[in-house]
Amino acid sequence: MERRDFFKKMGLFTAMLGIGGKLKAQDAKPAEKTAEPPKETDTKITFLGTAHGAVTPTRFHSATLLQVGGKNYLIDAGDAVCGQLTKNGLFLPDLNTIFITHPHLDHFGGLFMLIQQWLFHKQIYPKRVKEGAHLDVYLGGQDFVDTLKAVRKGYYRSDKYPAITALHAFQPGEIYNDGNIKVTAYGNDHMGRRKTDNSQIASSFLFECANGKKIFFSGDLSREYDLPLDGIKGGVDLLVSELVHYPLQKAIDRLKDQPIKKICFQHHGDTWERPGWEKRFADFSAKLTSPAEIVRDNDVRFV
Ligand SMILES: [Zn+2]
Ligand SMILES: [Zn+2]
Repeated sequence: MERRDFFKKMGLFTAMLGIGGKLKAQDAKPAEKTAEPPKETDTKITFLGTAHGAVTPTRFHSATLLQVGGKNYLIDAGDAVCGQLTKNGLFLPDLNTIFITHPHLDHFGGLFMLIQQWLFHKQIYPKRVKEGAHLDVYLGGQDFVDTLKAVRKGYYRSDKYPAITALHAFQPGEIYNDGNIKVTAYGNDHMGRRKTDNSQIASSFLFECANGKKIFFSGDLSREYDLPLDGIKGGVDLLVSELVHYPLQKAIDRLKDQPIKKICFQHHGDTWERPGWEKRFADFSAKLTSPAEIVRDNDVRFV
């Protein structure tokens, strides 16, 4: 895709104005959503939940839908995720894989209901279900998986659970590769210093798509903005970064001159909805060396 098309599709118009110049208030509106259906070669990202721990009337807990190569992947499953996926047109049994960044409830509070609804929709709409439909959930550390299995057992009063929905524990490193995407997890210190056994870890994820696009999800980070630079050193088309746990200067310092084509900031508080946010974000993004924008629930971007 040509650079011009890339910028256009990514809704970069407002962000580009923010580089090294003044971002006018009227330019800082969220980019227009495209009405075009995604092409098979596109990587489509739908922001389903962009709030941090405190929801607002229009923004819910963390969840992002990544669609590429005809497959559907979810990063985090905050509590509104079932409604948000359905509202954005996804038939739940078409969801293949879920990656949870870390065991804080604003990132997985909707997981059990999502699994239940996935199974329920599969049962009541059998003609729409694709052959071999299954749901795999990837969670950082065996502690996390064991805890959720215990909750699941309490709910079902049995160890038996449909084998088509599986919980997998991962450690830092390559955690998934279906030939369509490869996912690598990088640990960070959002949940405090990492334990030596890597249990109960917080992760950032690099998604490398078969179409050549690379997307990095920061997940939640520490106060030091400890974005794992190893994951972006080869260059990324998009960084999806949180925007709540650190002083902005830390991000400016860490992201300086990194090979990032575009940054979407999510997981932010309502401070970025209050009067004057446009000016504050323009001042911030002008100090970054990559174009950046703030995204909100139901925003769609193509890479
Ligand atoms: Zn969070
Ligand atoms: Zn967190």
